[in-house]
Amino acid sequence: MDPREVLLSVENLHKTFPVYKGIFRREVARVFAVGGVSFDIYPQETVGIVGESGCGKSTLGKTIMRLYDADKGSVKFRGQDLGALKGAALREMRRHIQMIFQDPLNSLNARFTVSDVIKEPFDIHGMRASRAEMKERIQELLNTVGLHHRSANRYPHEFSGGQCQRIGIARALALRPSLLICDEPVSALDVSIQSQVINLLLRLQDELKLSYIFIAHDLTVVRHVSDRVIVMYLGEVVEYSTSEALYDSPYHPYTKALISAIPTISAEKTQRHPLVGEIPSPMQPPSGCRFHTRCPFAEKRCSAEKPELRVIDGDSQHVVACHFAEKLAGASS
Ligand code: SF4
Repeated sequence: MDPREVLLSVENLHKTFPVYKGIFRREVARVFAVGGVSFDIYPQETVGIVGESGCGKSTLGKTIMRLYDADKGSVKFRGQDLGALKGAALREMRRHIQMIFQDPLNSLNARFTVSDVIKEPFDIHGMRASRAEMKERIQELLNTVGLHHRSANRYPHEFSGGQCQRIGIARALALRPSLLICDEPVSALDVSIQSQVINLLLRLQDELKLSYIFIAHDLTVVRHVSDRVIVMYLGEVVEYSTSEALYDSPYHPYTKALISAIPTISAEKTQRHPLVGEIPSPMQPPSGCRFHTRCPFAEKRCSAEKPELRVIDGDSQHVVACHFAEKLAGASS
């Protein structure tokens, strides 16, 4: 595929969930999980998605996968609208987009052997192969993710967290996808194991020409793996740029606060404006700029008028949703 051709295009994606109450299960409210998210991803590119817990990043990943149906907006894979696909056509398209989950052990069926776990996607997609061919493919996949071929006959609970994540990755790669949605793939792992899994993902991206959507709350990990980074707050994108520009010159006060909270051994960098307060309820997001209840720079306009995402400093790669982004550029966080 032409590297300049968009692989996946997300446009104005919205997802809400109903909240029911009473014996008649009456809908009393809606949770605003994802609001108007748009971005593109190119072949062999990694787009990182960061934000605090509850900011909608995992829901975004699952809505892209069509594990949830979007309320509004579109997701196009190689130009084809996933929302318009049903049945066999949707299944066929799903071969190309796979997901890696946060909890490696719980994401694997405990009653299946590793061989069964990796074989399952072939069964789901009705892809028949002889026993010998399937055995060879499973061993090839185990080898690809750095597991011994004898692992095939063991059960997931016999493996460590890092090994279970490798099994999950082997399963995700079984159908030779082009895009992996990695939903907090290392956050449940020890730090030393995290780096092994990250290095594995980077090697696989190189060898198999994969694109990644990498969802995480650890900004250091996201910086390490991502070409571009999206910062989300309460379901909305507040800043989006190349990894380098976003970490070196963040504009949005929320991005600045997240970056300033990254642990550092440098004595020079101090956290002067840490994030204060809890993330507001997604059932009643604040008016205007959703961040205004926690923003140290909020002015009257912020609670009344919603800031739109706009290009900053003429850099079409860098967009920010803040009324005062330019004025705050030099403000320390
Ligand atoms: Fe803060 Fe206002 Fe900018 Fe929102 S628009 S981030 S409240 S300064």
